[in-house]
Amino acid sequence: MYILLMGPPGAGKGTQAAKLVDRFSIPHISTGDIFRAAVKEGTELGRQAKKFMDSGQLVPDSVTIGIVKERLAKSDCQSGFILDGFPRTLEQATALDATLGELGVKLDRVVNITATDNELVRRITGRRICKGCSATYHVTLNSPTVSGKCDKCGGELFQRADDQEETVIKRLNVYQVQTEPLIGYYRSKGLYAEIDGLQSIDKVLEKVIDSLRGDRT
Ligand code: ADP
Ligand code: AMP
Repeated sequence: MYILLMGPPGAGKGTQAAKLVDRFSIPHISTGDIFRAAVKEGTELGRQAKKFMDSGQLVPDSVTIGIVKERLAKSDCQSGFILDGFPRTLEQATALDATLGELGVKLDRVVNITATDNELVRRITGRRICKGCSATYHVTLNSPTVSGKCDKCGGELFQRADDQEETVIKRLNVYQVQTEPLIGYYRSKGLYAEIDGLQSIDKVLEKVIDSLRGDRT
């Protein structure tokens, strides 16, 4: 199953992707996670990406497209993937088409999870991530059993540097201007399904799975 998860920052893509990994045993490929890992490791990629991430801007296409091309060519993608946070520009979308063509692969569905701006800000500013396994929580909406500790691995939870309200507003604006046009792009290809992300995590998962079975919402 070749799945593309779209949606504004905070809509719940990473949360749903983690559940889809368990369900379909295919890799979750998040460009945000790739960049954050590079920043943590202090690589040249991380150095280049950091200034854009910190200011809520997109990392340039010239950097991002090559990273995804390399990742999709790995053997674990042969029976599918969940792509999250890529493409975010029309240039990235056309580059993805070319890469998938070279790999002889077709997307099964593009699932867009939507939410209101107020809810996105609430979700992002309360988001906490595990330092150990990167599991995602929310201080009130999806809280761990023990405050500040991951349920899965006991790791310490932290807040992403770009999850402060000021940067979040910029990221939402970047999404509207640069990424929303992709809705028309994928709709015209007959791949697009839209899910109301204001429902519970389990309900959203149910709707995502329905959409993968072929239901258009
Ligand atoms: P994205 O990957 O789209 O940026 P996340 O999956 O990280 O978004 O979710 C953003 C925040 O919202 C996290 O704190 C997560 O726990 C919470 N969250 C995700 N889905 C829901 C939901 N359906 N209802 C309430 N909170 C949610
Ligand atoms: P995310 O984890 O998806 O919220 O992404 C965090 C940040 O990483 C974004 O605000 C961008 O700076 C950068 N980023 C992630 N994916 C992309 C992409 N496809 N194109 C450009 N920048 C990206």
